[in-house]
Amino acid sequence: MNRNELKRHYFEKGASALKKVISIDQDCYCCPICKKVFLLKAIEVGILTLEHAPPKKVGGRPLALTCNKCNSISGYSIDSAVVHRERLFDAAKAITGQKRNYRGRATLSMGGEAINVRLEVDEGSISIKPPKKINNPQKLTAYKNYMMHLHEAGKWDGEKFTITPLARYHQKYSKIGDLKTAFIICFAFFGYTFVLNKRLSPIREQIINYKTEVIDRYWLVSDPKINRKHFICLIEKPISAIAVKIDKSTIILPWLEGPKDLYKYLSEKYEYEEPVTFEGRFFNWPETLEMKLDFFKST
Ligand SMILES: [Zn+2]
Repeated sequence: MNRNELKRHYFEKGASALKKVISIDQDCYCCPICKKVFLLKAIEVGILTLEHAPPKKVGGRPLALTCNKCNSISGYSIDSAVVHRERLFDAAKAITGQKRNYRGRATLSMGGEAINVRLEVDEGSISIKPPKKINNPQKLTAYKNYMMHLHEAGKWDGEKFTITPLARYHQKYSKIGDLKTAFIICFAFFGYTFVLNKRLSPIREQIINYKTEVIDRYWLVSDPKINRKHFICLIEKPISAIAVKIDKSTIILPWLEGPKDLYKYLSEKYEYEEPVTFEGRFFNWPETLEMKLDFFKST
């Protein structure tokens, strides 16, 4: 299925799911983030776009459609914070030998000077190249002279250097990026019955207003004893809620019959860095727009 066919398929699936959840005669798709409804032609004019969860640049799948306004707000801010964070983690893994292949920019500090370098890890062997284009020529010459001096004087042993990857990310935005990933994953899995429930309103509001703090304590540190990288958990104990594990973080979302003050409960019960274990029903992340609750209810 190509991109256009996939968009059309998601539109049709979303439109038939929406008819089961709200009273509406026309075929419309509702953006899960802003709740605006769109007709089919919104696909042709590029107003409804494929939404990847997690972001496409970190290997996410296209799981739903969102409107271009919601997609671009998050693309420039929260999604890019997630991408930059993953790049930084990758660089750290490459330098410490946990990742066999990597390419990226870094700075190399040695002998009191820092220059820009390309850091390349190819099947575990590291190479560091200082390209002319991204360096001050005088610094580069001074650096070469210093290296030559070390070489000629035979002083290589014990010379210390520092490699710093050129990747910075906004931690708070990257967490809201994870919140959005969890929200889209749950939309694809459960459907409109879940995301249009009023308990999910603060989540939508937080994704749209990413600069303000709408909710707190929506993420917890994943239990390191659990090997599965990703899952959805319909938590039964100690509280009724949804957990979406995204690698090292676990995002907690309200469940339909769960407590109204979920985040207050979490902030009182858990410290930020405390790994949390849940009891409940575990599901794999969806691979497509499934909307299980919408279609389950009417059959
Ligand atoms: Zn929208």
